[in-house]
Amino acid sequence: MYRLAVGQLDRTAEQMGLDPNIWQRLRTPQRAHVVSFPFRRDDYNTVETVFGYRVQHLLTMGPTKGGIRYQENVNLGEVTALSMWMTWKCAIIGLPFGGAKGGVRIDPTVLSPGELQRITRRYTSELFDVFGPDRDIPAPDLGTDEQVMAWIMDTYSQHVGHAVPGVVTGKPIEIGGSLGRRESTGRGAISCMIESCRHLGIDPKGLNVVIQGYGQVGHAAARCARKMGARIVGLSDVHGGIYDSGGIDLDALDTWIAEGKLLASYPAERKVSNAELLEQPCDVLIPAAIEGQIGAHNAARLTCRLMIEAANGPTSLEADAILAERGIMVVPDILANAGGVTVSYFEWVQDSQHLFWTEDEVNMRLDGIMQRAFREVLDTSIAGRTDLRTAALKLGVTRVAEAKRRRGVFP
Ligand code: NAD
Repeated sequence: MYRLAVGQLDRTAEQMGLDPNIWQRLRTPQRAHVVSFPFRRDDYNTVETVFGYRVQHLLTMGPTKGGIRYQENVNLGEVTALSMWMTWKCAIIGLPFGGAKGGVRIDPTVLSPGELQRITRRYTSELFDVFGPDRDIPAPDLGTDEQVMAWIMDTYSQHVGHAVPGVVTGKPIEIGGSLGRRESTGRGAISCMIESCRHLGIDPKGLNVVIQGYGQVGHAAARCARKMGARIVGLSDVHGGIYDSGGIDLDALDTWIAEGKLLASYPAERKVSNAELLEQPCDVLIPAAIEGQIGAHNAARLTCRLMIEAANGPTSLEADAILAERGIMVVPDILANAGGVTVSYFEWVQDSQHLFWTEDEVNMRLDGIMQRAFREVLDTSIAGRTDLRTAALKLGVTRVAEAKRRRGVFP
């Protein structure tokens, strides 16, 4: 993943003739923290050593911002790549943040709530000097949720001696979370889908949409797409997927899952693996699960006209070239999933002002920002005759490079 992120930067920097001093500086993160700490299992006698990461790619633009993922195989390279993408994402949207990302090397699905809480509090404690509302502000990502954010906020606040809601975003509403944050990444992705349709001259109503991943992002994207009149024909989670050309009834599926049954066992036209799902007939494909899903091995077999990267890093450089040749429009992750960090920014602003907005206000501002960012990226791609990823990177890198030039080199 790190090679992919640096490869994307190198390709863009070369095309735009970026100052080599700044180019070199942007290839490596400013700060990378690796911690290891003891984690006591519920049986009390087992104490494991767990690794945690927090990488801050760029401190030029303001505090650093980015999610924390709990995943068994998360590593420093992956977190570094994600922190770099966060930098571009914030710059494209125009947020006063640099990119960061964190991870804990653990499988959260096998932990009890008590274990999850202990590991979260210890990880936060280890990184107490790194986090802070004016320093570095975590948010949810793969395997973490509102509850995990609440424990981080509480642990940090216990250390400081008073409540500090602005230290994390994606918190529960009761402790300073923002209305609309939970749905924001999916909503932003669908906003990009609508704008892409407008550009391509197609009506989003009746479009067939396949979504890989039915977590926080995939779920909200499915709901928003359906609201826009699209038909959700394929869905999956880590256990597998389903495809139904007649459309999947999302309410019935949610009830099914709430009853403790697997998404993959929901009655549908056919059951598919995650790999098969990507190649099912559809107009729009939304990867919303994990990285590395579309490569040279399957890019030629995708049937979609439009791909919206709600997940981070789902497409390889080789696949990018194949999709471009096939005329498939790809809205890159650094634009398509920027709705999450945008509403995280709203949450941080609301926390610092102690003034909270209505859901309509949040959604209206988010839609406006996503539409403007999409338009800027599209215009850059048309002017430079490049794909949207290169255009988005160009925009982000240019803004960051200009800020670096203005600030100069210390000492
Ligand atoms: P989540 O943990 O809530 O959901 C992830 C989904 O992917 C689940 O349905 C899970 O079962 C599925 N999944 C996990 N491993 C898989 C595998 N190997 N194959 C297929 N499916 C798998 O996570 P999320 O917050 O929805 O994040 C999804 C993606 O969106 C990630 O790439 C994340 O970095 C990105 N993202 C999330 C946010 C956010 O606000 N949560 C913001 C920007 C980007």
